[in-house]
Amino acid sequence: MAKNIEQCRDIKKLNPLCQVLLNLAIDEIEKNGITPLIVETYRSQERQNYLYAQGRTREGSKITWTLNSIHTKKNAVDLIPQRKIDGEMTAIWNTKDKQTQKIIEIMSKYGFEAGANWSTNVDSPHFQIANVGINGTTFDAKNNNIFITKIIQKALNEKLDIHLVTDGKWGSLTTAAVNDFRKKNGWLKNGKLGAEALRRLLV
Ligand SMILES: [Zn+2]
Repeated sequence: MAKNIEQCRDIKKLNPLCQVLLNLAIDEIEKNGITPLIVETYRSQERQNYLYAQGRTREGSKITWTLNSIHTKKNAVDLIPQRKIDGEMTAIWNTKDKQTQKIIEIMSKYGFEAGANWSTNVDSPHFQIANVGINGTTFDAKNNNIFITKIIQKALNEKLDIHLVTDGKWGSLTTAAVNDFRKKNGWLKNGKLGAEALRRLLV
């Protein structure tokens, strides 16, 4: 298989902000006694085209419906539980599975949108951070989405003992709270959360 259409499981190939969220989620998944299996992270456009052209099927459903995957934007991961069944480490491809459900719960807590919750084209192992720039290095008033902004607002409320409405809309109050959090950490008040600020906010 040509190198550029190989499957990639490397977390470090993802956007740095996505890496922070994924690593925190994986820590919590493991603390819950679940062994996660990363099926895929970054996907080159060549691989996306290849999968789309194949129209491969699994359990009767197409693997991909689109040429525009968030995987190619470095902001998506496919993640399932694995565990010993009859002595063999086995990947679990079952949305109803309790450990799968726990992974969905934890990934959602860290701002990932779960494909399992989509009303159409359900994509169970898929988690993504949509609508943020492929090369974005900060979450801020311009680079965010409703899932990310909700977890940031919730964390700001906890860290600063304030009461932002956790509606997922990044307005001036959210920016002001980000600046308060930055000031507390001795950083410039630029209204943005880079990878390290995001990690510190969420731990
Ligand atoms: Zn996926």
